[in-house]
Amino acid sequence: MQTQPKASHFINGEYVEDTAGTPIEVIYAATGEKIAQVYSATPAIVEQALDAARAAWPAWAAMSGTERGRILRRAADMIRDRNHELSVLETYDTGKPYQETIAVDATSGADALEYFGGMAATLTGEHIQLGDDWVYTRREALGVCVGIGAWNYPTQIACWKGAPALACGNSLVFKPSETTPLCALKVAEILVEAGLPKGIYNVIQGLGDVGAALVTDDRVDKVSLTGSVPTGRKVYAAAAAGIKHVTMELGGKSPMIVFEDADIENAVSGAILGNFYSSGQVCSNGTRVFVHKDIKEAFLKRLSERLATAVIGDPQDPDTNFGPVVSERQMDIVLGYIEKGQAEGARLVYGGKRLDRDGFYLEPTVFADVKDDMTIAREEIFGPVMAVLDFEDEADVMKRANDTEFGLAAGVFTNDLTRAHRVAAGFEAGTCFINSYNDAPVEAPFGGSKNSGVGRENSKAAIEHYSQLKSVYVRMGDVEAPF
Ligand code: NDP
Repeated sequence: MQTQPKASHFINGEYVEDTAGTPIEVIYAATGEKIAQVYSATPAIVEQALDAARAAWPAWAAMSGTERGRILRRAADMIRDRNHELSVLETYDTGKPYQETIAVDATSGADALEYFGGMAATLTGEHIQLGDDWVYTRREALGVCVGIGAWNYPTQIACWKGAPALACGNSLVFKPSETTPLCALKVAEILVEAGLPKGIYNVIQGLGDVGAALVTDDRVDKVSLTGSVPTGRKVYAAAAAGIKHVTMELGGKSPMIVFEDADIENAVSGAILGNFYSSGQVCSNGTRVFVHKDIKEAFLKRLSERLATAVIGDPQDPDTNFGPVVSERQMDIVLGYIEKGQAEGARLVYGGKRLDRDGFYLEPTVFADVKDDMTIAREEIFGPVMAVLDFEDEADVMKRANDTEFGLAAGVFTNDLTRAHRVAAGFEAGTCFINSYNDAPVEAPFGGSKNSGVGRENSKAAIEHYSQLKSVYVRMGDVEAPF
């Protein structure tokens, strides 16, 4: 497969190159080999992208929602048709197993384009009667949006930001993570092939400084970031200086509570999905697994048995279901946390080591007897490391589950119906699960509370973050004035 893109950037409907930018090597996580090279955007490229986006959006916004939606839905169909090719590329970009990428990455991007494409024609204001006078509201585009992505879901993030932005009549300049620059270019290419006017969806590569240049530019009306809390703080502050709209999808350290009456097999499945899918590199992962004392050993035994059946290997092999982490740097960060877990006295019950092979492979790792104040229970690791903590009492575990700066997600496994809903209501988190974990359908709002974010992606709620209301007062009679 050809992994080297035609050029680094996609601006105004075309691939654009500028080799004066800092080279960015694309490394395949499964082998450590270089598979492509792109260049970070120079100031001239940033200018070109923002100028194109600025010039293009008014005509796009003036089209009917039906016309805009038709293009997005066509792009969704094309993505589904090319799912295999896009999934192979996603696997090269991230190292995630093809078994995952074929099921969730391009298809979830297509879902977003289809959903918001279908919604575009329904985006209207309202009529408010005030006696004879009346007010009507117009739902209008914001203008130029900037999207900045993390490296774990490059196709999905490019679509989750692009689809609602475009449905509402905005243009977008998207900067993928420097670690995974390939997939968003394909999304741009497909959108243009589907009929998107030039300049509406642009992709430029770069490190954090390129993101910072975009966020502080006066031509930009909205910033949507998917990234860590520290980056979120910087980007939110920079956007605030220009009073820009923001969506912040940030990190988490989410709790998953397994009560004594839970179906253990399902709870183990949830814990596996919420800790080891994408080699643990999922923002909403339930990495603090609170297991009731009565079932703790049974849970750990079954978890270890099932982890032993993981197929770890070449991520392009459809049988592989556990791949490497995205980069050497990320692997070293995760190994550092594993060391800390041991040093601080947690009991290592599974894994804990780098695999003896090329690429950035770690064993799925489980710590038990983890205490709330240990580093591995407080900080986001973003790798395949699960912390199992004990509890006995519901009120106590709720306090502990919520005792974190993060509030992205939370899950509960129990067969007690009222307890399930009581616990979900008590979670300080934006996205909760009952007897399940990490489902993210486009129809449901997704996002965090507390330090995990601002705003929501997906669902009708996203429309509020990519459009604004204008009120128009209409007087039907004479205007009365005091003098
Ligand atoms: P980072 O926060 O390091 O980077 C996110 C993006 O921001 C990258 O494109 C990065 O560029 C860019 N960036 C860095 N500094 C700045 C700056 N000062 N101004 C503008 N842009 C900047 O996150 P990672 O890429 O390491 O991704 C992992 C994190 O993302 C985790 O915390 C995870 O929880 C979170 N995440 C959240 C999700 C959510 O929906 N809530 C979903 C997925 C991930 P560069 O790569 O070049 O540094």
